[in-house]
This record gives sequence, C-alpha cells and structure tokens, in this order.
Amino acid sequence: MTSVIVVGGGAAGLVAAWRAASLGHRVTLLEANGRLGVKLRISGGGKCNITHDGPPKALLAAFTKDQARFLRASLHAFGSEAVLDLLRREGVATYVRDNGRVFPLDRPGSASAVVAAFETLVHRAGVDVRTGARVTGLLGGAPRIEGVRLEREDVTAGGVILATGGASYPETGTRGEVLDWLKALGVPVRPWFPALAPIPLEIPRPAWEGVALRDGELRLSAGPEGRRLAAFRGDALFTKTGISGPAALELSQAAERARRGGPAWLTYAAVVDPPETVDTALQAEARANPRLLAGTWLGRHLPERLVDPLLAEAGLPRDLRLKDLPKEARRTLVALVTALPLGAPRPVPLARGEVAAGGVALSAVDPHTMALRGWENLRVCGELLDLDGPVGGYNLQAAFSTGFAAGSLG
Ligand SMILES: Cc1cc2nc3c(=O)[nH]c(=O)nc-3n(C[C@H](O)[C@H](O)[C@H](O)COP(=O)(O)OP(=O)(O)OC[C@H]3O[C@@H](n4cnc5c(N)ncnc54)[C@H](O)[C@@H]3O)c2cc1C
Repeated sequence: MTSVIVVGGGAAGLVAAWRAASLGHRVTLLEANGRLGVKLRISGGGKCNITHDGPPKALLAAFTKDQARFLRASLHAFGSEAVLDLLRREGVATYVRDNGRVFPLDRPGSASAVVAAFETLVHRAGVDVRTGARVTGLLGGAPRIEGVRLEREDVTAGGVILATGGASYPETGTRGEVLDWLKALGVPVRPWFPALAPIPLEIPRPAWEGVALRDGELRLSAGPEGRRLAAFRGDALFTKTGISGPAALELSQAAERARRGGPAWLTYAAVVDPPETVDTALQAEARANPRLLAGTWLGRHLPERLVDPLLAEAGLPRDLRLKDLPKEARRTLVALVTALPLGAPRPVPLARGEVAAGGVALSAVDPHTMALRGWENLRVCGELLDLDGPVGGYNLQAAFSTGFAAGSLG
C-alpha cells in the first residue's frame, strides 16, 4: 500500500482517487475549492452531459488522430458503459439523447447528482478528502516527486497524481498554473490555447443578440476571398459581442489559430448548396411566383428578424418582388443565404472555453498508466493533458478514462 496524493477534485481526480483507494492505496485528495466537482456541477448547463453513447471506437473517432491513439487504452479500460454502470450503482439513472449525448435523468441540479455519486464513491473507498487545499508547488524533481506544497504546509507521499484540469473558467478553480510548474521541471507541454469558446467578432451585431442561425454551416476562411480553412455544420447564435452556439464553439480553436496566423473570416451558410444551385432555384421561384417579395424568400432561409436589416444593408427595397429582381440583386440574395458575412474574429477568450486545448504533451505520458515518462511516481490525467474533444460528453469521458488509468496503481 502506497500513500498517494491526488491534486484536483474534478472529474479526473475523483475517479483517480476512488480507483486508487479501491485498490488499497492510502489516498489524500486535495481540492482548492471549498467543495468537489465545481466544474462538473456547471457542465452541460447544469445538466451534465456525462459521456457519449457508443463503443470506444466511436468515441475515439471524435478526437484528433494523436489524441485518439493516446486515449485508446484508457477508454477501452474504462469507457462510457463503465462510467454509466458505476453511476447507476450509485442511483444516478441516465438517458441517451437522439444525438448520442448521455445525461442524468432530467431533474433540477442533475449535474450535482453526478458529483454526489462520486463523493459517495471516494468517501466509501476511504479517501481522505481535503477541500480548500490549494497546492502551490511541487516538491522534488525527476525522477521522483516527494509531495506537494500547500499554502501552510508540505504534504509528502509515495506518489502524486495531478488532475488539476485546464485553464478555462478560472473561477471554477482551474487556473492552469500546474502546467507552468511541470514545464519548469522539464516536462514537455503545449501552452494553453482557447477551444470550445464563443467567438467575438470585430464588428459584432448586438441588435441581433439571441437570434439563431439554424441548420446550416459556419465557415472559416483566410480572409473574405481566401480559401476555406474549416467548417462546422450546426447552429450559431448572435451574442452581444459575437457568435456562440454549437458551430461557433466547435470552430473557435480553428478561428483563433487562423486569426493569429493572418486574416480570418467567418460566414454562415444557411443553405449549404453551392450558390449556383440556389441561384437556379431562385430563378425558378421567380418564374413560378413572380409577385413573391424578395424579403419573403429571404425569410425562408434566414431568421425573420434579420430580413429587413439585411435588405436595407444591401440597398434593396422592402417591397421588391422577385419578378423585378435585377441580376445583381439576385446575386446579393443568394450570397446572403449561402455565405452570410459575419466578418473577422477577435481574440477568442481562453477563459470562456468549455475546455482548454494544450496541456502536458501526450508524447510525455504513458497512455496505459498516465505516468510521466522519466518520472517514477508522478502521473497526470484529465484536461491537464493535451486533450480536447468536441462538445458531446467526450471531454468528461476523457477525464474519467484517464483518471481511471492514473488511479490504477500497481
Ligand atoms: C461551462 C462548461 C460546461 C461543460 N460541459 C461539459 C459537458 O456537459 N460534457 C463534457 O464532457 N464536458 C463538459 N465540459 C468540459 C469538462 O467539464 C472538463 O473537460 C472536465 O471537467 C475536465 O475534468 P478535469 O477533472 O480534468 O478538470 P476539472 O473538472 O476542471 O477539475 C480540476 C480540479 O482541480 C482543481 N485544482 C486546480 N488547480 C489546483 C491546485 N493548484 N490545487 C488544488 N486543486 C486544484 C480545480 O479547483 C478543479 O476542481 C464543460 C466545461 C465547462 C467550462
């Protein structure tokens, strides 16, 4: 039996601590916040999208190749079924939505029920839980960690598991400082980088706040006339400062990367067909229905609230009918529905991401044990690793799986 310190009482740390204690190790869990699982409690809008339904292979496909290769072993050892089984045994019933996302059964504060289940598990396994315990430094150096420094004392242990999360939503306790300490100790890291965050725009549309662009594709290109860099099918939502919604979150990392590298430009294709196809359809509509207002046609594809302002911006009268549509105006209407210009992105805020990209380089970690290479007794798991999946339960699952591997001490 070894004494083990787990730093961080979030998704990964809770599982790591429970697993290590269940295997007979003497575990102390140190959490900076006054209570456990703060980020878990706000996940999925307070409902907690625990995981994604499906076999490991399907879940791995949501990650980049390198990330999937790294996650394969831990996801097979502790995949979504294993997580759900564990929770079910603690009384958390779940259901799968049509899109494969798994949630606890709908009731207020369902995310808290998930945290409560993990709290029960760690307490029952005999973990010594210390909340309000912010670690301020690591003791020792490669190849052995001796323990950790707290504000007022040093705590030594036979092994340390770091599960301190990413660097977004710092108000939930995740400030990302542990990555700096590891870097200083010679551990290869990739700097934190914004991901799954709303995208602020150079020229926001506060008047359109709350308006959703639905069922289309958000596209990123290298400038207004530049080549396509990335695209994501899904809804986007105007906010006071830019855009949010699923498509914006998914494209935010690429948008920030593009912005840092040169010109970047966003458009929304409410209709994903090529402009020529839409143009042909519009001409056919004009023949079949010549008295139809151009605005009515526009409103079939874009939210009603945008129709008048867009017509005005394009210099088209509100009473313009399809039969009177000059070629140039037709092109304008087609462009609005196939590539509504949203403009250049502003810096994507790291703090507002559902995850932070970057973290401990995966090449520095044994994917079976989460042990840091070159260290005898130091492991890392969860978002502290250079892992970032899409929205849909993948990030919590990655935290659970890597936490389980890290806690599986011999
Ligand atoms: C708003 C929001 C919604 C989300 N919704 C979902 C969702 O529905 N589904 C999904 O899969 N993912 C979701 N995510 C992402 C998911 O929550 C994270 O990927 C996941 O929580 C990472 O788990 P973790 O254990 O690595 O880190 P965390 O859960 O962040 O836990 C890390 C813990 O370490 C503690 N800590 C940090 N530094 C120290 C220190 N120096 N000393 C002591 N303790 C420290 C922190 O206080 C924190 O409690 C969401 C994220 C956000 C921000």
